[in-house]
Amino acid sequence: MEGVFVSEFIRPIREKANFPERVYVFDTTLRDGEQTPGVCFTPDEKVEIAKKLDELGVDVIEGGFPVNSEEEIETVRRIKESGLRAKVCGLARCVIADIDACIKANVDRVHIFIATSDTHLKYKLRMDENKALEQAIAATEYVKSHGLECEFSCEDATRTPLDRLIRFYKSVEEYGADIHNVPDTVGVMEPEAMFYLISSLKRELKKPISVHCHNDFGMAVANTLAGVKAGAAQVHTTVNGLGERGGNASVEQTVAALTAMYNVKTNIRLNLLKETSRLVEKYSMIKLMPNFPIVGDNAFAHEAGIHVHGVLAKAESYEPLTPEMVGQRRRIVMGKHTGKHAVASFVKEKFNLTEDQIKEVVEKVKSLAVHKKKIIEDDVVAVVEGVLGSIPESEKIVRLDEALIITGNKITPTASVQITIDNIKKIAAGVGTGPVDAVAKAIQSALGEEIRLLNYKLEAISGGTDSLCSVEVTVEDKEGRTAMGIGVGGDIVMASVNALMESLNRIYRKRRT
Ligand code: MN
Repeated sequence: MEGVFVSEFIRPIREKANFPERVYVFDTTLRDGEQTPGVCFTPDEKVEIAKKLDELGVDVIEGGFPVNSEEEIETVRRIKESGLRAKVCGLARCVIADIDACIKANVDRVHIFIATSDTHLKYKLRMDENKALEQAIAATEYVKSHGLECEFSCEDATRTPLDRLIRFYKSVEEYGADIHNVPDTVGVMEPEAMFYLISSLKRELKKPISVHCHNDFGMAVANTLAGVKAGAAQVHTTVNGLGERGGNASVEQTVAALTAMYNVKTNIRLNLLKETSRLVEKYSMIKLMPNFPIVGDNAFAHEAGIHVHGVLAKAESYEPLTPEMVGQRRRIVMGKHTGKHAVASFVKEKFNLTEDQIKEVVEKVKSLAVHKKKIIEDDVVAVVEGVLGSIPESEKIVRLDEALIITGNKITPTASVQITIDNIKKIAAGVGTGPVDAVAKAIQSALGEEIRLLNYKLEAISGGTDSLCSVEVTVEDKEGRTAMGIGVGGDIVMASVNALMESLNRIYRKRRT
């Protein structure tokens, strides 16, 4: 496949696998993902995420556990009624009230589950196997009698004896269950065991098999893929791998691997993975690790030196797929170990500067690198612009005309600003945890958009209370453009504001070029 550079050793594995023709993606970000400790989506956020998941191309959206509350029923119904292409599913225990709540939410599919492992039967359900099976069958019949799709899960399937699993799945199949989900509820499987389990079930069952894997030992994605290799036609995933404890199989990693490694089809538009991840990151308020595969900030970042040279010469030397495929960008990072020579050749390649200017840029980048852990490409652009002179007044798109900033003891830091953007004056005010935060909020409010502060660094240049200070900020807009700004002065707040204004101007300039 174009843009994919995976190992040739996969070929024989691919040939002997029992792949389905295509894999259906059942996304449970809004249900299992919301069970992540500390995560709670508002109804509006759930609807917005559902629309994004639909655009991404998932086949089924598990919108929630409707019996939880009237609000949850209403939210799932709103998702269903927002006109998505994806099917909407609700979770239910094998009890009438739960299924009724799903029916009320107007879902296409009800995902019913009952625990089947010894531990769960004995300590959680306090029920024997026969009684549990009776309930499973009754629930299946009830779902089917309402004309809905029925997905059935044996909870804790991976700690349930195989003959019991076969008994449950075969029985519900006879009563009309449409798909069998196999949850590794506690994340206790490993790939070969998963392959064996799914292959064994596949021999016995007629309806499609689905897998639901947790990441307690970091194997959720590997186990999911093993399930697919054994013929599972549906995978349960969450955006950013959200979920209880170690989380669920991440949709990004699962789908990227299915596509790039195994050449198995899904309906996912890979190039929307990054923006979907960013939306869920924002609403879940769980910051993605930079080294998160596929969608993390470092997933396509390279530290200057040998790797950058290699990557610029031929991307596949250090990338398994191109960043554009998954909606990412390649970032070149200068670290403190990046040699002068590497910085110079990078600057030479990108900008048209004299030898003296190159020397100056290299010196500045090197001294910045000592303080900052990493310097992204945009920082180098800022340094180059600094050497060439800061943005001339006449070229500024956003200008700060006035700023009033109040702070003190026992008052809320407050700021009001007047800015001019494209010759239109805008006035706004903001409050914050400190004066810089207050003025940043006021500026964002005047611009009418959210800007994420990726980095803020304040440094006193000389000693004493009258010291000059230097502020360096890096900001990111909603579309992922980043820019750096530097402000220097005797007033910490104004130096910060100037740095912010400079970075904003760079963002606006990028948008227009
Ligand atoms: Mn789960």
